[in-house]
Amino acid sequence: MQNKMWLSSPHMCGREEGYVKDAFDTNWIAPLGPHVNGFEQGLSARMLEHPVAALSSGTAALHLALILLGVERDDVVICQSFTFSASANPIVYQGAVPYFVDSEADTWNMDPDLLEEAISRLVTVGKRPKAVVVVHLYGMPAKMDRITEICERYQVPVVEDAAEALGSALHEKPCGTFGRFGVLSFNGNKIITTSGGGALVCPDDAFAERARFLATQARDTAPHYQHSVIGYNYRMSNVCAAIGRGQLEVLDQRVEQRRKNFAYYQETLSDLPGISFLSETAGSFSNRWLTCMTIDPDHSGGVTRESVRLALETQQIESRPLWKPMHLQPVFANAPAMSTGVSERLFNTGLCLPSGSNLTSEDLSRVVEHIRKNWK
Ligand SMILES: *Cc1c(COP(=O)(O)O)cnc(C)c1O
Repeated sequence: MQNKMWLSSPHMCGREEGYVKDAFDTNWIAPLGPHVNGFEQGLSARMLEHPVAALSSGTAALHLALILLGVERDDVVICQSFTFSASANPIVYQGAVPYFVDSEADTWNMDPDLLEEAISRLVTVGKRPKAVVVVHLYGMPAKMDRITEICERYQVPVVEDAAEALGSALHEKPCGTFGRFGVLSFNGNKIITTSGGGALVCPDDAFAERARFLATQARDTAPHYQHSVIGYNYRMSNVCAAIGRGQLEVLDQRVEQRRKNFAYYQETLSDLPGISFLSETAGSFSNRWLTCMTIDPDHSGGVTRESVRLALETQQIESRPLWKPMHLQPVFANAPAMSTGVSERLFNTGLCLPSGSNLTSEDLSRVVEHIRKNWK
């Protein structure tokens, strides 16, 4: 029995252990501590020196971003529909209403024309959105030039969900630095991991301090425990940050390897009828977190993404359909949405392939071999 090949599994470089050992040797296990500061500084250096708060998850970072933007009960927050549910859930944590906007076909991210229509409709009925959550799905930068221009014009702040896009950039500007707030994730399947964790990229030190304050139970300065606002237990531990420091040192190598995976799949599969891959648009640089392809059943001679997925599964190779859009999720059935069918079509035809930076060339050629068999 062959070992299972995963979509994206953790890839340690060896240096993590040195940092973790230091945390153990000094008994600085949790919470906070010098590795948290070091990790935040390392991230900040990759985020054009924006201050960064290290947190327990990307979801926590999204939640704090909404809190810091003053999102409250019954507010409307526009959110990209084609994403993972964690982009949208914190809107509901705040008692606000998510308003889903579909994607365009060039980057698979939020469609700027549709976004403008959504904002202008909401403004007309006196419901100016409190924020817009944009996602760089699978590491591909969204059309931030147009999205930020529109949001500035309507004075709506952008929360940039860069959970899948650490190492990606648009016109050399790193993803995570376009919005008022940027969100990063170090979950186990992301491009680098702390076993679990996230970070909030902040516009200034005051916001970063406020984020850290809220993330550590909002304790007022007093010798006793005193609280004037509701707090959260959202801070990253010193051990997780130690892992992150080791991982951050090899981020560029991880991006390079994932981009090589993508190039290999594209080279060896593009001739198959019906298959296409997502290209970078002018000026964009994707970390290619996951390689995704679509299979157009009208041109593939009957092969579908599901038949390929099941064929791979029999070989112990994990692949997965693209994200199911939020406006099609049972839990968001009553949420308002503007859809064009783009993300629904991507969901129906798209497949994510094994994309870890620790896959061997034998692994990759085995995936390709078992995909190609479907066309014979
Ligand atoms: C992983 C992910 C998140 C959430 O990050 P966690 O660290 O798992 O909470 C949010 N948005 C997107 C698009 C993600 O892929």
